[in-house]
Amino acid sequence: MHYPEPISKLIDSFMKLPGIGPKTAVRLAFFVLTMKEDTVLDFAKALVNAKRNLLYCTVCGHITDKDPCYICDDERRDKTTICVVQDPKDVIAMEKMKEYNGLYHVLHGAISPMDGIGPEDIKITELLKRLQDETVQEVILATNPNIEGEATAMYISRLLKPTGIKITRIAHGLPVGGDLEYADEVTLSKALEGRREL
Ligand SMILES: [Zn+2]
Repeated sequence: MHYPEPISKLIDSFMKLPGIGPKTAVRLAFFVLTMKEDTVLDFAKALVNAKRNLLYCTVCGHITDKDPCYICDDERRDKTTICVVQDPKDVIAMEKMKEYNGLYHVLHGAISPMDGIGPEDIKITELLKRLQDETVQEVILATNPNIEGEATAMYISRLLKPTGIKITRIAHGLPVGGDLEYADEVTLSKALEGRREL
C-alpha cells in the first residue's frame, strides 16, 4: 500500500502501541486527519508530557510526578504492610478498591525463565532493602495469578522466610492466568481479604 510519507509514519507510530494491529493503526491515522489541529496538538503534548514528567518513585517504584510518590509520602498510610505487585497499573487497581491502606512495592515484571527474566531483572533487591529497618511486619504478595506471578511469589517468599516477616499471598478467585489490573474491585477485595500466610 502506498501512503504519503506523513501518514505512513503515523501508521507506524500507532503500530508501536500494544494491541494495535495494522488495520486499527490505519483507522486511527486517518481519524487523526479529521481531528481539529488544536486537538491533535493537545494530544501530542499529552504524550510528550506524560513521558517527560512522570518518573518512578525511588521508594516503591510506582509512577509519579513527584518523588517520593503520594502514597509513600502519606503519613496516614500503614507503613507496617507492603503489598508487592508486578506493575504500576496494579497499584492503581488496588487503590481503586479503597480497602488497602498499606504501602506498595512495584517489581516491574515477574520472573520468567522462558523470557530470560530472572530475579535480578526485577526490583527484588530494592524490596529487600526496604525491609531492613524492621518497620514492615507483613509483605502481601499480589503478583498475577499465572505461572510467572506464582513463581515470583514463591521466590520472594523463600527469600524472605529467614527474616521472620509475615508473608501472605492474595487468595485465588482472581481469574487464573489473568492480570491483577483487570480484576474487578469486589474480586480483588475478596482476594486481599482471603490472603493466606506462606
Ligand atoms: Zn512510592
